Amino acid sequence: MSTRQFLMAKAMGLMPYHQTVLRGAGSLASLPDELHKNHVHHALIMTTEGMIQRGTLNEFFQKLVSIGITYSTFTQIQPNPTDIDVANAAHAYVLNKCDVGVAIGGGSVIDCAKVALAKITNPQLDVNHPTMLRKPLPLFAAVPTTAGSGSEITAGAVITHTNADVHVKSSFNDVRLVPHIVVLDPALTISLPTVVTRTSGIDALSHAIEAATNKYASHRTRTASDKALSLLLPSLSRVLIHPKDIQLRVAMLEGAYQAGLAITTNFVGNVHALSHAIGSRYDIAHGAINAVLLVPVLKEYGASVARTMKHWETIFAAELNGQSFVEFLDGYIDTLGVNRTLELNSHDFLAIATQAREEALGYPVPQEWNIDTYLRILREVTR
Ligand SMILES: [Zn+2]
Repeated sequence: MSTRQFLMAKAMGLMPYHQTVLRGAGSLASLPDELHKNHVHHALIMTTEGMIQRGTLNEFFQKLVSIGITYSTFTQIQPNPTDIDVANAAHAYVLNKCDVGVAIGGGSVIDCAKVALAKITNPQLDVNHPTMLRKPLPLFAAVPTTAGSGSEITAGAVITHTNADVHVKSSFNDVRLVPHIVVLDPALTISLPTVVTRTSGIDALSHAIEAATNKYASHRTRTASDKALSLLLPSLSRVLIHPKDIQLRVAMLEGAYQAGLAITTNFVGNVHALSHAIGSRYDIAHGAINAVLLVPVLKEYGASVARTMKHWETIFAAELNGQSFVEFLDGYIDTLGVNRTLELNSHDFLAIATQAREEALGYPVPQEWNIDTYLRILREVTR
């Protein structure tokens, strides 16, 4: 971890977020009024084709028009958003003379919107070679429709290059990318497929765990992580059985938001470093990879994370029933019905380990690992 990363972790921990949060079932309907207060005339709605076709946004669109805000839509965003998606979204914003960007979707849609809007006020920005932004984004509202990535509160975005091989992605990390307005409307997550609820929920869990176990976790990070775990742990296993339970959806959305806040203030760690390196080579959902890595990574950390484990063993004593937090987590992940191993080709191990180690150098991980440790974990999780 470089001095720069350390200072950045400190600065981001102290950074006040001027984020307006609208919460509750149906809260998307209050977004037009919030935009009106900000003197918006024409909005660019960045979302998925499915959201438009299912009619989920009809009421929102009607409300916008009824208070005099016109809008254009942009839906050409791939599951791993590319530099071309970003350029097209930015082009749509300029062409339609928009004065707000509204991202309604999962992490991919919100990430794409972040970088497209950054490009509006920072035209010199090279999407494939991220640099710090000089100017703030235009007004930006994010409406997450999955409870997982936390992109609605994080300072990060990941964009895939189209002009190189599939392994190349740009990771943005800039506090100016944090959306100004967030809508946490659980009604939008009710129809989420089980597999997405599960993998995005595990992703959120891993954010809460990695941010708190990293070095330099501030009081703010720990509080957000504790809150996230106390919302996510009891809800994730139940929402898979009762997907239409709005209270469980509220807890998932708020838990993912708090977990996102935790990584905004103290980054992710080796689970994510390995997960990104594996995810850029294999078509496996990010959360599904994290589900396999979480326990082996925590076990490898051992004594380095003992203080945080003790803390969670105290606050979740009733659920843990005498087990250690890692033992509990191991059993808990089993109940979610996910694979506990990955099908990886051993020929890729060295490249994955090298890429993961490189990425982890930028995080305040509790323990710095050499290549052999990464290789050992890869062998352990491979079927
Ligand atoms: Zn993640």
